[in-house]
Amino acid sequence: MLRAHSRGAAVQKPSPDNPDVTLITPSSPMSTPTHGGRAKCLQRLVRLDLPVPRTVALSFDTVHQLAGGYRPDVSELLTEFDPDTLLCVRPSSEDPDWGGPGAFLNIGMNDARHKALCARIGDVAATEIYLRFIMNYAVDVARLDAEVFDEIDGASPAALAKALVLYEEEAEEPFPQDPAVQLAEILRSMARAWEGTTARLLRQAKGAPVDAGLGLVVQEMALGLGSGECGSGVLQLVNPSTGLPQVTGRYLSQSQGREALDGGAASIFLEKDPRGPSLEELAPEAFAALKEHAALMRARLREEMQIEFTIENGKLHILDGVRVERSARAALRIVVRLAEDGIITRQEAVMRIEPRALSELLHRQVAAKARRDVLGSGIAASPGAATGRIVFSSEAAQASAARGDPCVLVRRETSPEDIRGMHAASAVLTERGGMTSHAAVIGRGLGLPCVVGAANMRFQVKRRSLVATDGRVLKEGDEITIDGTNGQVLAGSVEMIEATLDDTFRTFMSWADAERDIGVRANADTPADAKTALHFRAQGIGLCRTEHMFFEAERLTPMREMIFAHDPKDRQAALELVLPMQRADFLELFQIMQGQPVCIRLFDPPLHEFLPTSRAGQRELAEALDIPVSDVTRRIESLSEYNPMLGMRGVRLGISVPEIYDMQARAIFEATVEAAKEGITVVPEIMVPLVSAKREVELVRTRVEAVASAVRTENDVDFSYRLGVMVETPRACLRAGDIAEHTHFLSFGTNDLTQMTYGLSRDDAGRFMSEYVRQGVFSEDPFHILDTEGVGELLRLGVVRGRATRPNVVLSICGEHAAHTESIAFCREAGFDYVSCSPFRVPVARLAAAQLALADKIK
Ligand code: PEP
Ligand code: MG
Repeated sequence: MLRAHSRGAAVQKPSPDNPDVTLITPSSPMSTPTHGGRAKCLQRLVRLDLPVPRTVALSFDTVHQLAGGYRPDVSELLTEFDPDTLLCVRPSSEDPDWGGPGAFLNIGMNDARHKALCARIGDVAATEIYLRFIMNYAVDVARLDAEVFDEIDGASPAALAKALVLYEEEAEEPFPQDPAVQLAEILRSMARAWEGTTARLLRQAKGAPVDAGLGLVVQEMALGLGSGECGSGVLQLVNPSTGLPQVTGRYLSQSQGREALDGGAASIFLEKDPRGPSLEELAPEAFAALKEHAALMRARLREEMQIEFTIENGKLHILDGVRVERSARAALRIVVRLAEDGIITRQEAVMRIEPRALSELLHRQVAAKARRDVLGSGIAASPGAATGRIVFSSEAAQASAARGDPCVLVRRETSPEDIRGMHAASAVLTERGGMTSHAAVIGRGLGLPCVVGAANMRFQVKRRSLVATDGRVLKEGDEITIDGTNGQVLAGSVEMIEATLDDTFRTFMSWADAERDIGVRANADTPADAKTALHFRAQGIGLCRTEHMFFEAERLTPMREMIFAHDPKDRQAALELVLPMQRADFLELFQIMQGQPVCIRLFDPPLHEFLPTSRAGQRELAEALDIPVSDVTRRIESLSEYNPMLGMRGVRLGISVPEIYDMQARAIFEATVEAAKEGITVVPEIMVPLVSAKREVELVRTRVEAVASAVRTENDVDFSYRLGVMVETPRACLRAGDIAEHTHFLSFGTNDLTQMTYGLSRDDAGRFMSEYVRQGVFSEDPFHILDTEGVGELLRLGVVRGRATRPNVVLSICGEHAAHTESIAFCREAGFDYVSCSPFRVPVARLAAAQLALADKIK
């Protein structure tokens, strides 16, 4: 038999013989982990002495037993309620985001109550309630088809009689008249709905554990129907999309429009409004009480709450209170205002915002309510959304930008040659690639929405067409939208929400920074990146990939001349043309960063990336260098490698063709001298990529030091610099002890390190990564979420061995993983000094780091 713990009765462990059914009173035993958030919240409202109708809560255990087939006798539960009222049942899970069965209203409706209600609220309204209840019960509890009632029209006595007959015919039993039977069946069906496989999978996708429980609350209905002002609605003191203080919600007044239950009643304004009647005028006392209650809930529940209420003859009933659903922008404003009003602490405000949600504020996004016509999908490589016309080449992207026409660059994959096309495009879509492929890295750096690895679409680049998953063919010039936040490609243009960076954002971030105990720098290659980095308060540049500076047209030619030079002298002559441009690049970065550290990585990619791939490009190059095309093709062939990512690139190139690093070192030092003349003191950091042996560092160090001495002498000034190593090969981690002898800092490049640890091409992994994750081979894409086990072990070895040689060696991580909470947690634990990530992810990393520091303090 069900047992009700009335008014603080002793708690007993629930069992089939003794289920836990508790009347909600200020002192009844009730907690979110046992009864769910709604039950707990209702108890808080009761404690605040708000006019909450009588409510009974069923615990998770009890609901679980109901789902298992236990058929309760609910007559004792019903003794808690006035026998003349109707009841409703609502779900109460631990987290409202986990969903649950919809609320069931008007339980207890039967022929006798229908008659009584007709006298109270009128025939039509009473019949409408009864009809609706019969139909809901038929579909959700008796599992009849909704079409059974298709012929029911209106709320007449005949319609009601017909509905009862139809029910009986289909269910092969009369519609249950006993409220106890109705309630027992409804409780059982709600319990079973929660335990169904689809519902479980859906909530697990939202983070619910496999065994997440459901509580149920049974509450007396306050109908909001009657003679005086009657109605129902929801109200909150905040605008859910802006987060600004404003009375919002909705109210349906029965007295103003009787068709309310048909859904045809006019909505009523909440506050006085010249355009029509308002709740404030219709029920001034109830309205004032509502605002007061909402303010009390905000202060005492320490959250912006939405009140669900009814008004019966001017009397207010509060049925429920739920946390206001809100946009990312509103969420930030709400926590900042709560903290500024002294309701929560700044630390709590910092903890309440999900770092990833900040991305929504930093980029334009597809509006939540926008209709999505999905053409295909891939990896969400760079957040934000943009609409543009399809172009299939960098040249077309630039031409489109020149016309002021936004475009989406669609490529099988991008290469450094596409940089200028990417700069010109509004978004990028590629068939191949993963989280650390060229398109993804550059896209994030530029803040450009990007979807990569969209292998479920067909890229017919030569035919200039793109085939959607469902076979629709899109041509160059067709308009599409790239949603880089969730990886979708959408047809046409869709409604967007603009990015917002306001004072609230800055205030919030300053609170986060006050807690943070690990540095955050940005990966920035261009002045625009550096400005973004500074704007987002990065504490310097942690990685400047210098090769990106060579793709400007005027640099590409001398660079190519250098590649075609016959001897070191010719090579140097070609590089001398590049030197002033590089010097200007570095000086500009130093100027923008205003003395903050700037870590410049020496040239990294293989040289062939600078040579044209198309026949036309090769002819053009032959013309520019005044040599036969055959020389060009021969040189390209001689530079081609079976495995360029493991070939002559990084320090290997620096040692084989030392003039490149000499030129870069000179440009860095001369820019340092120039900056000093402007009063900007810079201690440049020079980083050597792809190191795997100590001797590589020794060789580079000797040459860099020679260049530094020369620049000092030529300019008769002194300056210092720091030389460091990018640790991105497994051997560099293992030999970090030797390597640290010659370095001030070790910056772990987890993109290449992941590639080499797994033996997995970062540019091709996208082809099978989703399948690998789906089959559980990898729990996550290791190019996206740092593999703290395998790659992490190498990092830990590198840290320990590097520190053993040089205890004060500066440690950082600069791969694409750096902004993730998981990576930052790892880096804090391993004692890293800073993380460096794409400029647009700097705020995300700052917040994640602050939350980790706070979580430690709370522990
Ligand atoms: C890395 O390998 O982790 C890195 C940051 O460098 P890149 O992505 O330029 O290879
Ligand atoms: Mg690398």
